[in-house]
Amino acid sequence: MQKQQELYRGKAKTVFTTNDADKLILEFRNDTSAFDGEIIEQLDRKGEINNKFNHFIMQKIEAEGIETQLIERLSDTESLVKKLDMIPVECVVRNFAAGSMCKRLGIEEGKALSPSTFEFFLKNDALHDPMVNDFHILVFGWATQAQIDEMKSITLKINQILKQLFDQAGMLLVDFKLEFGVFEGRLVLGDEFSPDGCRLWDKETRKKMDKDRFRQGLGSVVETYIEVAQRLGVKL
Ligand code: ADP
Ligand code: UDP
Repeated sequence: MQKQQELYRGKAKTVFTTNDADKLILEFRNDTSAFDGEIIEQLDRKGEINNKFNHFIMQKIEAEGIETQLIERLSDTESLVKKLDMIPVECVVRNFAAGSMCKRLGIEEGKALSPSTFEFFLKNDALHDPMVNDFHILVFGWATQAQIDEMKSITLKINQILKQLFDQAGMLLVDFKLEFGVFEGRLVLGDEFSPDGCRLWDKETRKKMDKDRFRQGLGSVVETYIEVAQRLGVKL
């Protein structure tokens, strides 16, 4: 597989074309951003940890019969993926209240949510990723009703799989964000699943083990990501 030109440089990953028009290379960088890119810092080894973490989680999801972008991990920081036509919305599921839900609704952090909630956000940093609903997605043509329904049902199924996986490793899966795209007409999970895009708390102490360590200046960001990976059995 030959890496060709840079297609897109996002906040945390760079996307490269390859000699196969259906495949891309995702390069996970050490850049760590918060508040829609207002703060960016380099954290040593973060790209490698997230690439390996994402590979591990996507394999678990595939094993449960859900199609993902994943083809293979190419190096410490690169993965070969299916080139998806990305749907510009973020799918967020929450098992406990945190982050923007607390700010928006005045809910106390840590409140258990039953049933788990599902929210869509528009991917648009300039607008600070506003929350949108099914009607916005349909009327502006970002996805079809069938894709909306499928994004919800797959994201909730992934929640069931991952909640259990993290629970067995002594962690609470508080919330997470997924992105989907279309490949040969099928809805496929894209982007990444790593501690950058979810909230994880230690089950006993509720220690924050995710990107909130960076957002809130709690320190030991990469060291904690490594602890999460080790608890799950991700080979680093
Ligand atoms: P951002 O764009 O939010 O700054 P990243 O730095 O993670 O995020 O950049 C990765 C970009 O690649 C995102 O825009 C994401 O939607 C896109 N992407 C992720 N996976 C795929 C894929 N399999 N096919 C095409 N694009 C993808
Ligand atoms: N999230 C993300 N990218 C975004 C927005 C949110 O990965 O652009 C993740 C975030 O890490 C958390 C979940 O989605 O795990 C819910 O985020 P929330 O809406 O609470 O926003 P935040 O306050 O984290 O910006």
